[in-house]
Amino acid sequence: MPLSGKKDKMLKELIDKFYLDRQKDREQHHFYITDAGKCSRVIFFKFKKAPREEMEARVLRMFDHGDYIHRLILNTLFSLGIVRSSEINIPPQEIISGRADAIITLNNELYVIDIKSMNSMVFKNLNQPKEDNINQLQLYLHFFKIQKGILLYVNKDNQELKEFLIEYDPKRCKSLLVELSYVKTKIDSNTIPQRIPSWPNDWQCQYCQFKEICSLTGSGEINWENFKKKIESFS
Ligand code: SF4
Repeated sequence: MPLSGKKDKMLKELIDKFYLDRQKDREQHHFYITDAGKCSRVIFFKFKKAPREEMEARVLRMFDHGDYIHRLILNTLFSLGIVRSSEINIPPQEIISGRADAIITLNNELYVIDIKSMNSMVFKNLNQPKEDNINQLQLYLHFFKIQKGILLYVNKDNQELKEFLIEYDPKRCKSLLVELSYVKTKIDSNTIPQRIPSWPNDWQCQYCQFKEICSLTGSGEINWENFKKKIESFS
């Protein structure tokens, strides 16, 4: 028998609340691999717990769904007997933390595997790997000292797969790490970094949870404490 409209709503609210509460607990104290190559301001604002637009519970559930798909693919890799390690943290060092999906052996060579899931529309138009996914995988290759990786994309709607081979690029890794060190100096000195030059049309700006305060901040560097006082006086 279907649930009455009232009970249905109660359960949805409970599930939504679970996801929204979990989101609130998140606090950032160090860089994640997913920060590499991203807008410096976003990283700065995350560290400073600046006011952000809350993500919808629906979107947070989609992230969970993505994790579930990753586990399904990992199960298959395990069944093939090619997994050397799975969900493996990068070796501890000062700047960044991250966890690769798997390290596998193919034709007697080691590969770092990073699995990404997306909807049919994005999947259909994907003719080359996404830049931010390459950045992440490059840093995994760097920290694991492995020369090759595979970005494996999964279509969430019909389980189709696409794969792209990525070779280690030390220059790119160096520049990503230099960029993160630069953001660290801004965090330590309480200086909001400049906006990215492609604001507001950049894809990062379209999905940015900080776009409201970013538009109040202006384009150049400014002092975070002074700006915080200003926005607190508005609220
Ligand atoms: S709106 Fe764009 S420039 Fe501003 S913080 Fe977000 S991503 Fe960066």
